[in-house]
Amino acid sequence: MKAFNTQVVILMGPPGAGKGTQAELLSEKLNLSYIETAKLLEAKFWNAKVNESMEGVDGNAYDLLHEKNLWATGILCSPPFVTAVLNEKFRELHKEGKGLLLAGSPRTLYEGEKELPVLEELYGKENIHIILLELSEEQTLYRNSHRRICELMRHPVLYTKETENLTICPLDGSKLLRREGLDDSETIKVRIKEYQERTLPVVSYFEQSGFEVQKVNADQSVADVFSDIFKALNLA
Ligand SMILES: [Zn+2]
Repeated sequence: MKAFNTQVVILMGPPGAGKGTQAELLSEKLNLSYIETAKLLEAKFWNAKVNESMEGVDGNAYDLLHEKNLWATGILCSPPFVTAVLNEKFRELHKEGKGLLLAGSPRTLYEGEKELPVLEELYGKENIHIILLELSEEQTLYRNSHRRICELMRHPVLYTKETENLTICPLDGSKLLRREGLDDSETIKVRIKEYQERTLPVVSYFEQSGFEVQKVNADQSVADVFSDIFKALNLA
């Protein structure tokens, strides 16, 4: 078995494909540090003050409250800002001797072009594995409009045949709720369009850069998707 503290696994796929759920499972199983862009950004925004900014990878200053506002309306944050946040985290975790798991990142071609070289420099091309979770547009819409999170820990609960009748969080027993804002039908449509127009080109970029992108059918149970990812990583 590979030493996974020297590896990078990148999970790509539309919103609702189960990237977060699979990332939680994989990071635990393989002892990888799960880099969740949404959580990193939320942490940056949590204490953001008026006029507070951060330097992006293009050298410009990005206003945190402006970025927070983009985020809240379903539009992707400015790529040079997001990329700076991520690259900072990659270097920090590499220094700590950790392997990485990325889910839903890079989100744009810009991020991909600026992040992949950093990952290659730190971990080496042969240690970077890219998995694309595939889900039809119909399923993507359906799953997103039914997605819930738990009241206590905000655990996301994917909408599948196995989970549709759940009313409490399987991990902590708290109530399941719909997410305000991010899961309104208009916001969902914006997020899906952003994925198709801005994130999918990253997958082509990976392929053009000589990486093998392994495709996994996401329209299966969580356990089956997990097992397929495992096979794709050549660990089974
Ligand atoms: Zn929970």
